Amino acid sequence: MTHPSDDPAQATSTPLPNPVVRGRSENYERAWSPEAVHVLAKPTGAICNLACSYCFFLDKEELYEGDRFRMSDDLAETYIRSLIEAHRTPQVTVAWQGGEPTLMGLDFYRRVIDLENRYARPGMTFLNTLQTNGTLLTDEWCEFFAERDFLIGISIDGPREIHDAYRVNKRGEGTFDKVMRGLRLLQKHGVEYNVLTTVNRLNGDHPIEVYRFLRDEARTDWMQFIPVVERVDAQGNPADLRGNVASERSVGSEQFGRFLTAVFDEWVRHDVGDVFVQTIEAAARNWAGMGQSGMCVFNETCGSGLALEHNGDLYSCDHFVDPEFLVGNIAQTPLRDLVAGRQQHDFGRDKLTSLPRYCLDCDVRFACHGECPKNRFLTTPDGDPGLNYLCAGFKDFFHHIDRPMRIMIDLMRRGRPASDVMEILVAADRPFQSKLRAAGRNDACPCGSGLKMKRCHGAAPTPTPLPDQPGAPRPPVTERGRRAAEANAAMRQT
Ligand code: SF4
Ligand code: SF4
Repeated sequence: MTHPSDDPAQATSTPLPNPVVRGRSENYERAWSPEAVHVLAKPTGAICNLACSYCFFLDKEELYEGDRFRMSDDLAETYIRSLIEAHRTPQVTVAWQGGEPTLMGLDFYRRVIDLENRYARPGMTFLNTLQTNGTLLTDEWCEFFAERDFLIGISIDGPREIHDAYRVNKRGEGTFDKVMRGLRLLQKHGVEYNVLTTVNRLNGDHPIEVYRFLRDEARTDWMQFIPVVERVDAQGNPADLRGNVASERSVGSEQFGRFLTAVFDEWVRHDVGDVFVQTIEAAARNWAGMGQSGMCVFNETCGSGLALEHNGDLYSCDHFVDPEFLVGNIAQTPLRDLVAGRQQHDFGRDKLTSLPRYCLDCDVRFACHGECPKNRFLTTPDGDPGLNYLCAGFKDFFHHIDRPMRIMIDLMRRGRPASDVMEILVAADRPFQSKLRAAGRNDACPCGSGLKMKRCHGAAPTPTPLPDQPGAPRPPVTERGRRAAEANAAMRQT
């Protein structure tokens, strides 16, 4: 499979070993000049009121041993001022994450809004976002969010038994009830929100249950599915960026592919235009050749989404909060210079230049781009380092969605809504569904698998295979989708 916009010339570059090791650089000569920059600010550092088993941030406390983990008012002022200076666009996204950012207390965010108003250039607008576990939300918080037009990301892993498996408090108790209480408060006050769901070994086997819960119970129309990939060493000890094995809680590669595929099949038959799934939106943008997918992991290069610690230390990315990837401190060097410096430029470029030959030759590279360098710790079949742990799953998923994606893109180009794909697929499914209804349990399954019905489509509810029929896309890319995609480029995991 090739994409029309694929540039074969890029497939000849020589891969570099990854990751590229860097130290602190004092040379901030401008290497690039992004118009806008996404920074995930962590005002409480890694401090959280919960203790989710798979949270990759809890061990970051060790980086700042003995620290109080609270962003000072002075640093907040430096940050807002320098964030504004770093933008040439009229809109500035101010994104807060953690740890748990509500631990800072509401007055901190009231001061932030005052700072935005004080330093804004004429015509400048702000999109304030905050990623939370939802457990500390109150009417007062939600009134503030509604009044200030915050976009809130709330983390829910699925229905109670699935959510409570890993999302627990410090006593090991499930947090489902408190999170749902927080969600209902957001809804009560009309706060705009998205749901972020981490996909792990457990909920990875329940895609439809999770998707329907988010759509029907959590009543969200924007979902993000983030794969849990915890790196450990050969003995199973946490090894963050240096481990070459995925922990037992991590989602399996093929398992993640099956999860995304099942979600896609449900969405493409029932919810196109009504529900937005970030991974599917990003895929649609890549299939349409739009250049930027809205998700750094599915772009050719990255580097414009950095992470700011409570003390002003700026790291290349929230997945690379590690001394090796410290870019500098905003109290000493303007944010604009840190972002535009050689070190950060090279960090983003390395996403492309460190791809192994196996990826460069891959027919779905236009959609995958080797995903996130954090997950590239496998060896390719040719023995090259740097293959993404999730490769097998992404290959399956992207191949699976090719035909309906082409149908949607074709619909859009003809000025029809992408949601027409649902009718097209249902019509194409009809003969197959009649054959299924007519087949007995011991008959050969009409899908052509060679298995008996009772072992195949007659066994358990499985996603119906997509029809082998060309058809006709509005890309599911709307203003709502665009706003959420931009804001959530930084909201990755809490
Ligand atoms: S692709 Fe990965 S390393 Fe690059 S910005 Fe995104 S999360 Fe960070
Ligand atoms: S990680 Fe796998 S699916 Fe993605 S570009 Fe590389 S080879 Fe292709």
